[in-house]
Amino acid sequence: MSNLILLGPPGCGKGTQSKILVKTKDFHQISTGDLLRESVNSGSNTGQAIKEIMEKGDLVPDKMVIKMILNVIEKGKKKFIFDGFPRNINQADQLERSLAEKEKKIDHVIFINVSLNILEERIKKRIQESDQSNKRDDDNVNTLFKRVEIYKELTFPLLDYYKEKNLLWEVDGMQSIEDVSTKISKIISN
Ligand code: AMP
Repeated sequence: MSNLILLGPPGCGKGTQSKILVKTKDFHQISTGDLLRESVNSGSNTGQAIKEIMEKGDLVPDKMVIKMILNVIEKGKKKFIFDGFPRNINQADQLERSLAEKEKKIDHVIFINVSLNILEERIKKRIQESDQSNKRDDDNVNTLFKRVEIYKELTFPLLDYYKEKNLLWEVDGMQSIEDVSTKISKIISN
């Protein structure tokens, strides 16, 4: 069993695959998006500031996100799935250092590859399907475009970063949820 990063554009299925792994393999999912939404829902001033950033589709400052991650790493005993983190090189460097201090490391980075056109279709569908009560604030098309831009500019370089460390695996995210999940299981059992 391994500490795992799921990497890929917004809407590629990282969250869905993380939840399957939590159920079937007893991982601890760390989703920075979920942690940030919790902070927004707390109604604090920081939460309000985070809400505005998320609504624009920008990245929340590294310092804030890393603090949240450190809190969880500190307490967690199971193997981790990092879902939506790291999102840039600085976050990746900091994650590596923080894990090393605890004599831990990342074992696999799995890139869920989805074409950006298809991704846009998926997200539009998700917006249509979600009712008003559980609709995420950042689920609108303008935000999506911004998030995809940010992904291309800041997150995409992580593929080379992890390739150089021999940690990168790629799964075709255009397959069914079950097939993606089977491929991920095979990779992490290596
Ligand atoms: P997600 O749920 O992972 O799609 O993230 C939703 C939003 O939360 C993103 O568009 C960012 O505004 C923010 N966010 C999530 N994870 C991070 C991160 N690692 N660094 C900075 N901002 C993040």
